[in-house]
Amino acid sequence: MAEGLIDTFGRVHTDLRISVTDRCNFRCAYCMPEEGMQWLDRGGILSYEEIVRVASILVNEAGVKSIRLTGGEPTVRARLPILVERLAALGVELSMTTNGATLALIAHDLKAAGLQRLNISIDTLHADRFFELTKRNELSRVIEGIHAAVEAGFDPVKLNVVPMRGINDDEVLDFLRFGQENGVTVRFIEFMPLDAQSEWSNERVITAKEILETAATEYEFEPITRGSSPAERFRFTDGSGEFGVIASVTEPFCEACDRMRLTADGQLRNCLFALGHTDLRPLLRDGGTDEDILDAIRGEVKKKWAGHAINQVHFIRPTKSMSQLGG
Ligand code: SAM
Ligand code: SF4
Repeated sequence: MAEGLIDTFGRVHTDLRISVTDRCNFRCAYCMPEEGMQWLDRGGILSYEEIVRVASILVNEAGVKSIRLTGGEPTVRARLPILVERLAALGVELSMTTNGATLALIAHDLKAAGLQRLNISIDTLHADRFFELTKRNELSRVIEGIHAAVEAGFDPVKLNVVPMRGINDDEVLDFLRFGQENGVTVRFIEFMPLDAQSEWSNERVITAKEILETAATEYEFEPITRGSSPAERFRFTDGSGEFGVIASVTEPFCEACDRMRLTADGQLRNCLFALGHTDLRPLLRDGGTDEDILDAIRGEVKKKWAGHAINQVHFIRPTKSMSQLGG
């Protein structure tokens, strides 16, 4: 049997996030600057063959069980269903996080190619606010995309919502209602210090505790036993669905973290907040063997720290933004 990827704290890594591109059709302020973003040049981005090679090594030789495609915006990469089909053939649990704007066009193809789960990011249900947040007038297309995902048979479809104080924190109840009415699971994620404009501050974070307090003003719900997921899950007691909160800032789940990240240009990162990485691209392009690649990956996992320390004085912000790391 394949030897798992274990770090010095005994955490076994079975989950891989693959950023398929750093490019995006949106400009969400909490994720990347509106202008002046330096894109990777196309030749520097891993090809589908290179991505599948790394994924195969991790699945076949190191016990990886789940893969999530992310970005940048994964759907801006051409012929994405081809990559999905090749990764699905590895027999892993395969999911994707997307801004949803093109799902009305490709949700069925992605499902047919073997994608199992979809998370769609949407932070407001108001068109004017949507424009302010993303610099794009695409709210209706994203909502169409959510419907298309449900129709294509993705189950559950999850919505990622990042509430920020003074920006969209008045929409928690609206999102819960939207989730119930549309048969999708809303997950509120605490705002993290990975915005390209460095406007993050602790005061801006709407905490998971605050979200639950707001939810309780209108809904009755009870906790669902938490698995390995970072989300704390709750079911509405009237049977109308569930929702979740991810307390990445106030109650980090680092001690149970089983994730690694592969950036679009082939950097393996052991944490969203890691300050270093291992570059797999030279090995992939200059004749490295599968064993060389696996050794490099094991080395990177071994270096993983205990946790991200956002709330401590010695926290150092990574210089890369969320769009470059893959959320
Ligand atoms: N473009 C895709 C999307 O928007 O879903 C995938 C990439 S995006 C970087 C992945 C996730 O990161 C999204 O759900 C987004 O809301 C989240 N995200 C981006 N910046 C964030 C931040 N500063 N704090 C918390 N979540 C953030
Ligand atoms: Fe693009 Fe997603 Fe970042 Fe928004 S959150 S800018 S959609 S990568």
